[in-house]
Amino acid sequence: MIKMPDGKLFIGGEWKNGSGQEIVSIFPVDGSINCTFKGASQEDVLEAIELAKNAQSKDSWLSLKPYERAQYLYSIADGIESNIERISQIQTRDTGKTLSETSALARSASGTFRYYAALLESSDDSLTSQRSDSLTLSVYEPLGLISAITPWNSPIASDAQKVAPALAAGNAVLLKPSSWSPLVSLELAKIIESSGLPKGLFSVLPGAGSEVGSLLVEHPDISKVTFTGSTSTGRELATQAAQKLMPISLELGGKSPAIVFEDADIDVAISGVMFGIFSSTGQSCIAGSRLFIHESIYDEFLERLVNETNKLIVGDPYEKDTQVSSLIHHDHRDKVSAYVDRAIGDGGRILCGGKAPIGAEFEKGAYYLPTIIADVKSSSEIVQEEVFGPVLVVMPFKDEGDVIEQANDSQYGLACGIWTNNFPKAWRVARAINAGTVWINTYKQFSISTPFGGEKSSGIGREKGSDGIRAYMSQKSLYIDLTGKPHQWANL
Ligand code: NAD
Repeated sequence: MIKMPDGKLFIGGEWKNGSGQEIVSIFPVDGSINCTFKGASQEDVLEAIELAKNAQSKDSWLSLKPYERAQYLYSIADGIESNIERISQIQTRDTGKTLSETSALARSASGTFRYYAALLESSDDSLTSQRSDSLTLSVYEPLGLISAITPWNSPIASDAQKVAPALAAGNAVLLKPSSWSPLVSLELAKIIESSGLPKGLFSVLPGAGSEVGSLLVEHPDISKVTFTGSTSTGRELATQAAQKLMPISLELGGKSPAIVFEDADIDVAISGVMFGIFSSTGQSCIAGSRLFIHESIYDEFLERLVNETNKLIVGDPYEKDTQVSSLIHHDHRDKVSAYVDRAIGDGGRILCGGKAPIGAEFEKGAYYLPTIIADVKSSSEIVQEEVFGPVLVVMPFKDEGDVIEQANDSQYGLACGIWTNNFPKAWRVARAINAGTVWINTYKQFSISTPFGGEKSSGIGREKGSDGIRAYMSQKSLYIDLTGKPHQWANL
């Protein structure tokens, strides 16, 4: 078995014991303890901020040319790539995710560092068009200290999505992972340390959101917060950021619609819908958790979907064939289960799942079966709230106008899937749906070069893509006089 990290925190470039609340990392598949250690305290955060300020303002970072900063990012990408086995093992222990998923997340994190390194080689400042006797330029500068606050569902990938562009931009980064999944972020710190990045530019501070997280938002030296997590926490942080007039980017929750038209390729649609909701055991911000099926194929499609869902392999995340593993934590499983119980109370009909799997191998784990619920009202809690588990609600629709109205009847606007063989229809519906990302005849596909973010209560701002570095920079305008003459206003 892989050796777990020793629980020391990476504070200002040094490995130290934290002095905050105790963190217990568990393997949710059987409840066994991976390790117990002290998280960061507010004093640890203050120390990391002071060291970050010092390191970020030094010539050894601030004066580096972009292509020189890129070398660190390439080295981090290489470091992740050569440690994929260890990283994915640690993340599987810490989250219960399947090994195939955690390896993919580690590869994606490496790709993110490589992408931003490559962008640094080609990101130009610009000469603006000349309209006076001045040469006019627009240049980008780092913001300073960035607080990156991440959730537990895909830690290494969401850490990389923030840390890579923020470092690329010339900032220092203070990363606060969730207390339910801190280990892989500490492992990332080891790799970043090995890249030779100047000490102090990067710290990892797992700890309580209300204590460590809030200081990382409120502290006057923090220039920007980049947050991924729930909508309720995001709202709190946005209020704090507003008091400081500090920029904040928010990647929040979702309740994304999956829409199947009568002319869709049924196999393509069924596999896409299942992957969209049940992969990652439904613990995905973009999960397609509201399924709308055209009324003419409703019964037939649903019957096949339920049959296929019942065949999904639920079990040990280390087994190659496992498709659905345990949830992150027993407390989270209980929350998911309570949502389903309340949906039944609201008149929902369980078509499959609706309970934990039965068997000795599941007894100690935070398992919950892939669940499909029909006969739900669109105003009900199960249709409107993010469950963040393997729970799909299904509803029929009459026509294009009806499904656009139903799909947009949500506070969220993160993602959407549309299955149809009619391209003009796909185009019209995709443009009419309030969502940051729309997939057509597929679901949950990602590319680091394509921006990602939400509308409405799903967030503010975009991550990824070629503008990703600029999100961590401020723009400065320069006017350089070309005449060499005194200003005529002064009559000299
Ligand atoms: P959460 O909001 O509870 O916590 C997210 C992070 O914020 C954690 O590190 C937590 O410790 C910290 N935090 C909590 N309270 C805080 C406070 N007062 N001040 C500062 N930090 C605080 O979310 P979670 O349960 O860890 O993650 C699940 C949520 O994340 C879901 O809603 C999911 O949709 C969302 N998510 C969104 C995206 C996206 O890209 N849109 C991606 C992944 C997850």
